[in-house]
Order: sequence, then C-alpha cells, then structure tokens
Amino acid sequence: MDYDVTKLLWDTTILYPAPDSPELEDDFRRGREEAARFREQYRGKVTDLDAQRLHAALVEYESLEELLAKPQLYAYLLFAADSENSANKRLSQRASEFGNEMSRELLFFDLEIIQLPDDRFAALAASPELTGYRHHLESVRKFRPHTLTEREESLLKLKNLTGVEAFTRLFDELSASLRFTMELEGEEREMTGEELLGLLHHPDAGVRERAFSIFLQRHEEHGIVYSSVFNNAALDHRQELELRNYSHPMEPTNLGNDIPAEVIDRMMNVTEANYPLAQEYFRLKAKLLGLPRLKNSDIYAPVGETARSFTFDEAKGLVLDAYAGFDRDFHDIAEAFFTERRIDALPRPGKSGGAFCMGMTPHMAPYVLLNFTNNLRDVATIAHELGHGIHFVLSQAQTMVNYHAPLPLAETASVFGEMCLTRMLLEKETDKSVKVALLCAKIEDIIATTFRQNVLTRFEERLHLERKEGLLTAERIGELWWEENGKLYGDSVEMIPPYRWGWSYISHFIHARFYCYSYVFAELLVLSLYRKYLEEGALFIPVYKEILTSGCSKSPTDTVAPAGIDLNDPDFWQKGYDFLKELIEELKGLV
Ligand SMILES: [Zn+2]
Repeated sequence: MDYDVTKLLWDTTILYPAPDSPELEDDFRRGREEAARFREQYRGKVTDLDAQRLHAALVEYESLEELLAKPQLYAYLLFAADSENSANKRLSQRASEFGNEMSRELLFFDLEIIQLPDDRFAALAASPELTGYRHHLESVRKFRPHTLTEREESLLKLKNLTGVEAFTRLFDELSASLRFTMELEGEEREMTGEELLGLLHHPDAGVRERAFSIFLQRHEEHGIVYSSVFNNAALDHRQELELRNYSHPMEPTNLGNDIPAEVIDRMMNVTEANYPLAQEYFRLKAKLLGLPRLKNSDIYAPVGETARSFTFDEAKGLVLDAYAGFDRDFHDIAEAFFTERRIDALPRPGKSGGAFCMGMTPHMAPYVLLNFTNNLRDVATIAHELGHGIHFVLSQAQTMVNYHAPLPLAETASVFGEMCLTRMLLEKETDKSVKVALLCAKIEDIIATTFRQNVLTRFEERLHLERKEGLLTAERIGELWWEENGKLYGDSVEMIPPYRWGWSYISHFIHARFYCYSYVFAELLVLSLYRKYLEEGALFIPVYKEILTSGCSKSPTDTVAPAGIDLNDPDFWQKGYDFLKELIEELKGLV
C-alpha cells in the first residue's frame, strides 16, 4: 500500500482516552446522577410549568441528553470499528443498557408534555420564550393518540433489550463475523462481505456472479438466524402497532418524519410508473457490455473506462476539490474530517460493513466509517458520507432537540455531494469512454437510490403486512423479495437464483424500519435542488445552506419551501425522473 494505514483509522481519543479510562466511567456515573436529579425536579410537575420555567427545563433536558450521548457515541464507534474485540462488545452492550435505562428515566418529560391540555398548550406555544421549541413540542404531541402510560412505556423499553434489540445485535454480530473464501486469479482468498460485494464492479461477468453467489449462499447457510431475526422484528412491530393504535406499518415512520402518508404514496406510485425507464437503461447497458441480457450481478459491471482504480489520497483529493468547487465552507468542513482523523477508511475483519456518518449532538464532531476498496464507487461514497458530515456540522446551529434532520431530509446533503463530484469529474474529463463510465455510474446510482429503494420499501411493507397472518418461512420471505424485485426488472434483467436471499443482508430493515424511502425522497429532492443550482449558480448556495442548517426545527415541507419546492405538488416527483431520462439520453448520445 502506498499510504500510511494508521492515518486511515479514526481517532476516538477526542472523546475518551481509552475504553477503560476514568473519564468514561465518570460520564456514565454523572449521566446517571444528573438524570435522577432532573427526574426528581420535574416529574409530575411539567403540566404546571409556565413558559419561562418550561423553557428552563427544556434547556436542562437538552444538556442532559448531550451528556448521555457521549459515552454512547464512543461505544458505538469502537464496536463499529471492531465488533470482535470482546472489550468493545462489553462496552457496546453496557452503553445500550445505559441508554435504555436513561431513556426510561426521562420518559416522563415527553409524556407530561403530551398530557398538557390543548388550551394550555396553545397558550404556552404562543409565548415568545418557547418560539425555538414550538415545533419540537408540537412534534412530541403528535404522538398523543399512540402513547401509553409511563409504566407501560418503561416496561416496553426495558423488555426491548432482550427482545427486538437483542435480535438486532445478533444480526449485527453475525453479519460482521461472516468470512468468505473465493478463488480469484488462480488464488484462494479470504474476504470480508464488503470486499466480496466490491467484486460486483469486476470486469469479468463470471467473477461478478460467483462473488455475489458466494455472498448470498453464506447468508442462506445462516438462514435460520436471518429469518428468525426478520420474523421477530416484524412481529415486534406488529405488536407495537396494535398496542399504540396505528393502522398501517408505515404510519409511525410517516408521523415521525412529519410527512403526510399521501405524499409518500404519491412518490412511490410515480416511482413505480417510471420502472420502464430503469428497464430501458438495463437493456442499453446489456448492449454496451455485449450481453444478450443483464443478470442482476451485472448491474454494476464497469462500462467504458472504469478500470481506473484510486488510492485513498487521490479519492480524498477529488472529493475535496468537488466540494471546494461548490463552496469554500463545504470544503473546509469536509477537510476537517481528515485533519482531525474522524474517518476510518479501510475494510478489515470484524469491522462494520458499508459506510456511515455518525453525528449525535450539536457539540460533538461527527465521525465517518468507510470500507474503501479503490474503485470509483468508493470515491462517490466518500463524497456521500462527507455530505452527511457537512449536514451534521451545519445543523450544529440548532440546539439538541432540533439538531437531527428529519429522515426524509437526512440524505439531502449526501446525495447532493455525490452530484457535485460527478459533475466535476464529467467536466474535467476529455476521454469519451471515461465520460461514458461516469454517466453510467451516476445513472446506476440514481437507479439504486430511487427504484431499488422503492423495491425495498414495498418488500418491507409486504413483510410487515403478511407477518400479521403468522410466521413467514424463509421461502416466503424470499418470494416476496423476488416478486418486488421482478416488478422493477421486468424482462430486462435476469435474477440469479441465490438472490432469493438478497433481503437477508440489508441492515436498514432491522436498524431503521422504512428508512429506505428516505433515499427515494432525497434523490428526487436533490435532483430538483441541483437543477436549481445549475440555473441560479451562487445565488442558490445561501438558500441551500439555510436548508441544511435547519435540523428538525421545522417540518420538511417548511424546510424546503425557501428553495421554491412544494412537496404537495404532484408533478414534483416526476421532474426528478425527467432529469434521469435526460441523463440516459445524454448517455445514448455518447454511445
Ligand atoms: Zn447516506
């Protein structure tokens, strides 16, 4: 390797010197004490507070939440970096038990806000002291019809530790422990799942199919565990829906996202109506590859000149240039991740797969995890995760309860950042075959974040609806998966048989129910925002910064309104697909 590997590990000592440091112990202890003190001071009294005292309570609550978040963030990062280290495992388990205990301790606060009589709440919400918290308080109170008593809420949380959260942990540990062997260029190699999936970008169709098959078959070998995890996650959700009076599996997500169900319905229906656009691209790609028809292991096959591989330093340079080309602040925020060593870059055994950016509070810097394997996709992933990082940093203008962007907006800056990277690469490039490769990669990316995520969401919806009728066998889960994927591919792509297990490795289904539609939402939103940027140039930048600075201080509809975007406009979603169609036409012009 031509670079210093130690520089590519993140530095968590900014948080605590070591997992056994007294500072960490101290925060666990202090957190517990402060939470008990807060409870003592406010429990049973929230409904009597006037605006000024409620404001003071909210400020205290926020700083307590920040205090409690720090050891949890630390434990999360250590476990993600090496889930096989037993000290990390213990710390991670301890942190989640701590988080669970603390959230039970503080549960009363939101519950008492929910219990405020409407007229009293209206008077409080109108007072100037609470202006900055109005949206937050309203968001909490939306859950009124779905909230149980404190005792019930507390017991449910407690039992989650050995219930659905235990299944999540099992899923994570099993997935991170999987090792694969595959023969490549005449040599047996041991690989992580990430490295194997990286081979979907290999030029040889046989290698791609073999890698994907080995990956999926290993999941099938653990089919008992995976189908049990999925069944229990779905059963747990069903019980929650019944206990809390929800009528549809997606309802809690939509409510939490502050998005009316009709908006999501419309978005998904428009997406399905555009499936033929994806099929048109898949047929074109088969032609470019000289194949009669694509297999689904060929979807990410390189087209044109993509054999190029990137060192991590080259990738970093490109991403920083792309952000600098957009705005200096964006560049500087992104660069700080490297200089402050808040990135863990390379794949290794026991490390969490995929990529993420973790931001927890307005006063703690976010961290990025990658599994960089030198290809163009990995460069885009850096731009993506740093986009999240920029978003987290900009929303540090908000206080704790207004900090986290609502899920449908959470992918805005990440997808936008990828768009900036592609555009810069396309403009710099003079070689036609490299341009073809870049365009294909962008189109495939849009397909993956819109159509594919829509498929995932439909599958997830059916999984939850069908679990109502009883246990789902692995075969039946595979069938649901196969059918929903089949709708997207039509006859343009042949699915390889082991793909029946394609559902089993998607962690979003287990970690963040119905998160996947946020990608569709974000991609279509970003295509609109990006178009505005192309039209308005520098004038657009302050508006965009305002969106990213908003956190969750406003509803998504109000957050994007300054950019002239109306989420209720039925044509809004189709405009995104029209943009995709233009990209496909541009590609056709080149080939
Ligand atoms: Zn993302």
